[in-house]
Amino acid sequence: MSAEYNYPTISEDAKIIRPTKVEVDLSILKKNFEAIKKHVSPAKVNIVLKANAYGHGLVRVAKLLEEIDADYLSVAVVEEGILLRKAGINMPILVLGGVWGNQVPLFINYDLHITASSLEKVKQINKISAQLKKKAKVHIKIDTGMERIGVHYYNSEKFLEEVYKYKNILVEGIYSHFANADTTDLSHTELQLARFQESLFFFEKHSIEMPVRHIANSGAVLQMPETYLDMVRPGILFYGVYPSKDLPRILDVKPALTWKSLVVYFKVIKPGHPVGYGLTWQSNKNIRAVTVPVGYGDGYLRSMSHKAKVLLNKKLYPVIGSISMDQIVVNIGDNSAYNGDEVLLLGSDGTNSITAEDLAEWAGTIPYEILTNINTRVPRIYK
Ligand SMILES: *Cc1c(COP(=O)(O)O)cnc(C)c1O
Repeated sequence: MSAEYNYPTISEDAKIIRPTKVEVDLSILKKNFEAIKKHVSPAKVNIVLKANAYGHGLVRVAKLLEEIDADYLSVAVVEEGILLRKAGINMPILVLGGVWGNQVPLFINYDLHITASSLEKVKQINKISAQLKKKAKVHIKIDTGMERIGVHYYNSEKFLEEVYKYKNILVEGIYSHFANADTTDLSHTELQLARFQESLFFFEKHSIEMPVRHIANSGAVLQMPETYLDMVRPGILFYGVYPSKDLPRILDVKPALTWKSLVVYFKVIKPGHPVGYGLTWQSNKNIRAVTVPVGYGDGYLRSMSHKAKVLLNKKLYPVIGSISMDQIVVNIGDNSAYNGDEVLLLGSDGTNSITAEDLAEWAGTIPYEILTNINTRVPRIYK
């Protein structure tokens, strides 16, 4: 059996010939980082790069962050961390997800920080690091009200007492995660913060040096300065997208990602001639339509069928029929378009824009899912 990690899947040559592409403006990402950094200072900034950097391209975005002296990176799974190390990234990298025993040597050998979320895991980590004669760096995960991974706050004191008995474990950090810091009712978030603070009394009580404390995601960065502690952990905000519509636009961050394609076909569709799989749409008069080579196989979600719009020659036009795996059809009414004309799927033409929030609304989801679903088949171009 062999396993292979497939991203990036697109060769350099293919980038030039594929009409559908994502452009990422690195100067915007840099400005977003600086806006966040300034806002939370003196707290450190740990940028979350999971899921291919929210679709922006894991390695290139990490390189940018290293160039601009970010403090820390986070990924979700150990494979993402290894990919970054192999690409030459030297910054501290925290893996946010859980760990399996057989992954521990990889964490240690690639100097990736482990999320320690139970005593059983800590024992395992300690044992393996003893065998490798190399200390394991861990961040303790406290569950303060999400019930996903982590030691319950009400068991944390006993847990921490145990952890500090293991000599091969270096506790670099301690953290928790908010369940709804992106809403305007912050009562649960405040409760979570209070529970986290309660767990931190352990260090004072036992006169143990405080590890790096972190809990704030994008929602908390925007709404609750008291959550910044030693370090914040924003994801979506760094990419210029607000975690929800309800939050105040207090930070000057801008979307860095543009998703575009080209017109590859033009035709006139007569009435009574339905469009696409399932024959779900037809016109009652002649219309002009163009085909664009993007579909749900690229992450242009099928659930946006009959709702999505694209920008073509500075106008918004509806996508008609069901979205196919690799193609969509756009109704341009009585207007003209030519093969090679640019089609914006997500982004701005200077006058109009289509945002990740728009796509999310059409698909019945959240902007996070839109960005992280743009498939690795779509080449990323950086400016
Ligand atoms: C994804 C994630 C974040 C970042 O969340 P945003 O809402 O994108 O800011 C922070 N911490 C953890 C543990 C996460 O899983």
